[in-house]
Amino acid sequence: MLACTYVEKGKFALLEKPKPEILEEKDAIVKVTLASICTSDLHIKHGSVPRAVPGVTVGHEMVGIVEKVGSGVKNVKPGDRVTVNVETFCGECFFCQNGWVNNCTDPNGGWALGCRIDGGQAEFVRVPYADQGLNPIPPTVSDRQALFVGDILATGDWAARISRIQKGDTVVILGAGPTGICCLQCALLYQPGQVIVCDKDAERLHYVNRHHPGVVTCQPEELLSLAQTHSAHGGADVVMEVAGSEETFRLAWECARPNALVTVVALYDRPQTLPLPQMYGKNLTFQTGGVDGCHCGEILERIARGEIDTTPLITHTYPLREIEEAYRLFESRASGVMKVAVTME
Ligand SMILES: [Zn+2]
Ligand SMILES: [Zn+2]
Repeated sequence: MLACTYVEKGKFALLEKPKPEILEEKDAIVKVTLASICTSDLHIKHGSVPRAVPGVTVGHEMVGIVEKVGSGVKNVKPGDRVTVNVETFCGECFFCQNGWVNNCTDPNGGWALGCRIDGGQAEFVRVPYADQGLNPIPPTVSDRQALFVGDILATGDWAARISRIQKGDTVVILGAGPTGICCLQCALLYQPGQVIVCDKDAERLHYVNRHHPGVVTCQPEELLSLAQTHSAHGGADVVMEVAGSEETFRLAWECARPNALVTVVALYDRPQTLPLPQMYGKNLTFQTGGVDGCHCGEILERIARGEIDTTPLITHTYPLREIEEAYRLFESRASGVMKVAVTME
């Protein structure tokens, strides 16, 4: 089968590889029907994910059909259409029992697929702990609707959930890329009074204006005054920092009102510092990132009910055999690209 492979720093290639086999009793083999490219794949390509193993098949955002299951798998069976979770988790350890599956203590726990073990930019993928890692897709939900459930949509759901948004709150979202949009869609479910999305990319702000007309959009330099005008208490009640730059990290605490909650979703290239003397008295609560992707079933139900629709994020579609071209486009950010879907035809 064809598999997009991390060859070495700076190089991915589409290689012919053997079809994966069941290795453990809780494994499933999934025939991938639709995959996508994530910014984290680019981080692997650029060598900034030290745990990524050269030779590994990349891709951790996909849907497919269960082909085979091991003897210990109970919740899914061959023929089921499923979403694949970016995180591998045992479901039994202390962290899993508390819903903190990102910190599962299993040696394969956390982000393994498409990083430490073969992922899903390929015709087939082996999924360990399939009962936790796979969720059946309701019949009325298409592959395109379900594509992001296991990764960026799980992230949006997790971020909105832990941000404890109250009805009427002013919410600031820094970053209008695909993950920012997923955070936005999930935040809107909590009925905030006003959402402000900030990004320096005008095209991405236009995307928000087109699809979410009630949301205020702005450039970074406008954010502080807008957060003041659109809130009753001198700043945002909740801030979600999804962009991951030094500037957005600073804006995240600056635009927050005293006692606000700041959820850091972003992954930074470098350490960030909080100027605590300047911040003294603001009494902010910071939550640092790492999605716990264990609510995929609920997300699928919300999609089935029409509450969430991320299909407009799929701006481009390529067949697997042209995935190198798909990467070039995604990386260049040309042609208004948000997300690229990869078909297996
Ligand atoms: Zn990802
Ligand atoms: Zn666990």
